[in-house]
Amino acid sequence: MTALGDLLAARIARTGPISLADYMADCLMHPEHGYYATRDPLGQAGDFITAPEISQMFGELIGLALAQAWLDQGSPAQISLAELGPGRGTLMADALRATQAVPGFHAALTVHFVETSPVLRAAQAKAVPDAQWHNDVTTLPAAPLYLIANEFFDALPIRQFVRAGDGWHERMVGLTEGQLSLGLSPAAPIATLEHRLADTADGDLVEHCPALSGITQTIGDTIGTYGGAALIIDYGDWASQGDTLQALRGHKHADPLTDPGQCDLTAHVDFAAIADHATPAKFTRLCTQGMFLERLGITARAQALAKHLSGDALKDHIAAHRSLTHPAEMGDLFKVMGLYPASATPPPGLEP
Ligand code: SAH
Repeated sequence: MTALGDLLAARIARTGPISLADYMADCLMHPEHGYYATRDPLGQAGDFITAPEISQMFGELIGLALAQAWLDQGSPAQISLAELGPGRGTLMADALRATQAVPGFHAALTVHFVETSPVLRAAQAKAVPDAQWHNDVTTLPAAPLYLIANEFFDALPIRQFVRAGDGWHERMVGLTEGQLSLGLSPAAPIATLEHRLADTADGDLVEHCPALSGITQTIGDTIGTYGGAALIIDYGDWASQGDTLQALRGHKHADPLTDPGQCDLTAHVDFAAIADHATPAKFTRLCTQGMFLERLGITARAQALAKHLSGDALKDHIAAHRSLTHPAEMGDLFKVMGLYPASATPPPGLEP
């Protein structure tokens, strides 16, 4: 086992089984041994690759969509251009470059990054030197908020519950013969899952992300009160159904309980929960990433870039366009939800 595995096993031996959320939180963000806290996991050489790392077009189109939302709301002065979990800062760097030509946008904005990993903060500072950093969304300014969160919510710890009558067993991480293992707590009613009694049956598994509601409420409050727009892009669907906890290492699936701290752990995002907590901001209908990027004009942008490319670079560029948009790749798996003030139109490419 890893050093973090030993620490977790000692803790469980002392105080009993822990929730999957507690397990995930340590695996991802433990200050000494956490996956994100100690490395840059992105890219070909890392464990997984994300849309902004696949092509500059992704960040460019997101930047232009947020700038258009800003224009549509009358170009407010002094806005926050914010990103949750910015990884290497690539998306924001591409967004800033693409929006240079939008009159007044750069003069109005300050870049805010919400990031807990010191390693990734350092990478972000290279890509976007004059950003301001936050540990969580509660310290974002009281100002119009134009925000992107790509593959952020999927990294937030989740709890898992298995239905038993009108109650739920929680899946807990415990110990079997000294090794980490999954078990079930005794069934009990759970207030936050009351609404799931309507769409589940005995034995069904649902996931709940405890941090999601507070983060969404803060964003929804800020956008509802001061204006702005949020684009939330992730894999997931309207409501959580089934076990989506996944571990990735070297671009391959791994066992979430093996080598804690050495693998990326994610779960699908429950967009219905985001919609539920967004008020007073309004939320858009879910849109697939492929459809969203097409509506923002990715094909025209891809053709313009292709004119300057040949050979392997052109092949890679065509493959990148396909990765981002094709239904068999990221196009359908990833979904987009927009948040916007009741007084405004939805962000470009999205529908009420
Ligand atoms: N958005 C980037 C990176 C996705 S990886 C991209 O698309 O490439 C997830 C990011 O969220 C990392 O930057 C990670 O350090 C950050 N992160 C994960 N949990 C977080 C938390 N609770 N608070 C702030 N940042 C977090």
